[in-house]
Amino acid sequence: MTCGPAINGHRLLARLDAFAAIGATPAGGVNRPTLSVEDRKARALLANLGTARGFTVFQDAAANLFLKRASTDNDRPPLLIGSHLDSQPTGGRFDGALGTLAALEVLETLEDNGIVTAGPIELVAWTNEEGSRFSPGAFGSQVYAAGAFPAGWQDAVDSNGASLPDELAATLKALPEAAERPLGGPFTAYLELHIEQGPLLERQGALIGAVEGIQGTRWLEVTITGQVAHAGTTPLVDRRDAMAVAVAIIAQLQATVMPADVNARLTVGRLTLTPGAVNVIPGEVVFSIDLRHPSGAEIDRLETEITSMVSEAAESGGCQALVRRSMDVAPARFDERLIGIVEDMAKRRSFPCRRMFSGAFHDALFMARLGPAAMIFVPCRGGLSHNEAEYVEPHQIIAGAQVLCDATLEVAG
Ligand SMILES: [Zn+2]
Repeated sequence: MTCGPAINGHRLLARLDAFAAIGATPAGGVNRPTLSVEDRKARALLANLGTARGFTVFQDAAANLFLKRASTDNDRPPLLIGSHLDSQPTGGRFDGALGTLAALEVLETLEDNGIVTAGPIELVAWTNEEGSRFSPGAFGSQVYAAGAFPAGWQDAVDSNGASLPDELAATLKALPEAAERPLGGPFTAYLELHIEQGPLLERQGALIGAVEGIQGTRWLEVTITGQVAHAGTTPLVDRRDAMAVAVAIIAQLQATVMPADVNARLTVGRLTLTPGAVNVIPGEVVFSIDLRHPSGAEIDRLETEITSMVSEAAESGGCQALVRRSMDVAPARFDERLIGIVEDMAKRRSFPCRRMFSGAFHDALFMARLGPAAMIFVPCRGGLSHNEAEYVEPHQIIAGAQVLCDATLEVAG
């Protein structure tokens, strides 16, 4: 089997350093909030690098940034490759930047080798993947997928009172050399390289993750209503203690859901109780359940199981229970042909590869609903991400970018 052209690893590592300097934190991480001054600097640098190689720079109304490399038929829908440039406030240097700069490296490698593809290949840097400055995350890819802005988006403000429409307008204005293009549009496939942000690849000694999809997430809000009463005078038989019921439910969930299924994730991350006095039996407890699974049917089944468990526990504790769904994002399944290509390309380079699901959200989740999409993961040290200490070994970076390059050429034909 033959391999495609080798990427320029030194160039890619130098680019990662250059972008990590934009919004660099003293602890070695990156603080590059979406649509901030630092984000605009990173976007300008990417646009300049692209222009220098003869790629055409575009941005849409959501400030998604595109670098288009011409082909024999430029009217064909593009093959999109990329990721995002924004970061968490105490983010790492690789989350998003790796996939974006590896995509640039792919375009440059094709250019260096004089390779002409049948259809155009475009790098995309999505706006506001992280969602920590303005909600929701994966904003740019969601707007692209919908071809429109979501209702109420104009009302989003950050913690300093800056508005999303103002910051978006200023960001678009800061890059006048980018041609405007409409939102959305057809594409032949979408490929994204990203760090795993979890420990599985490192633990299993794999270099490449062929990502099969992104697990679904459902948030439930459980309200247990009992009776407020005196802590000193109320005997056990007369208590309708909402806290005692909530604790029993949470303990049962923790003891059953994840131990029974290695793919299930259950987290109770928020709990409030009323009235919240040291000498008063709580009359109401509200807690959250974050439920995740690669299978939508399994999420449905777990919700049914949780709902009946909650009502039984509430009844036996003399309380009432209400379970309300507060968020639901269906799992995404990536394209089987693209997953196979990623596996094949890793195999050709003798990179240990395993299939896996993504535990985190990515822009690819929304692209997969529109057309063929897949992701390539590389390990990160200790599975640590959204952290200034995030680290990927140079050989892992280069392997991931190489597989992205090989897969891009395979798909582009
Ligand atoms: Zn990311």
